[in-house]
Amino acid sequence: MTNGSSAEHFERAKAVLRGETYKTSDLGVRKVLGFVFSFDGSNSWITRDALELRWVGENRRRRHKYFLDLAPGVVWDVMSRMGVSEILRPTVGYLAPDRAQLHPLVGDKEDHVAWVAPSEDQIQIMVRPLAGRSPPKAMPVPDSGPWTLPDPLPPWAPADPVYLELTNGLECQRCGRIGESYRELSDGYLVCGSCGCSFRP
Ligand SMILES: [Zn+2]
Repeated sequence: MTNGSSAEHFERAKAVLRGETYKTSDLGVRKVLGFVFSFDGSNSWITRDALELRWVGENRRRRHKYFLDLAPGVVWDVMSRMGVSEILRPTVGYLAPDRAQLHPLVGDKEDHVAWVAPSEDQIQIMVRPLAGRSPPKAMPVPDSGPWTLPDPLPPWAPADPVYLELTNGLECQRCGRIGESYRELSDGYLVCGSCGCSFRP
């Protein structure tokens, strides 16, 4: 799912990583941050197409997609919690709640650590519980020791559903229900959770 200015939002998120100032109070960003900082942690991928998020945990195999306009705000808040003004290479740091820019709508009750790994085509954000360790000051991701990149999540099965999340809602073209979450088929059609019909947005 893309919209006309996806590339622009992706470039903006990369500019925030390079230290460009940014500010938002967007409700959608606060919603997504609640998922990013969920209890067991999450992996998020920001690309030119979408912001995709997957929770850590065996029974949370859904993949959620969000529009890219939320990405710069997510990067901005994560960097602020880490206490850094730029991230040019993979960086790990404690997410200090007292440095937060935004108050997520849900979650955000646990101490977390984030790894932010930027590349040309992707910004990956991995969040895990601090779990009794002493919080790391932001630093380049080391090759060894407790702050190396977290274990990768299990691979996707082809049938694992993808859900497109619309923080401002979208009207089903068949039944008219305003939904915030639609299952997205591989051809881009969306399935309404209310009437079961699919339509092209
Ligand atoms: Zn419907």
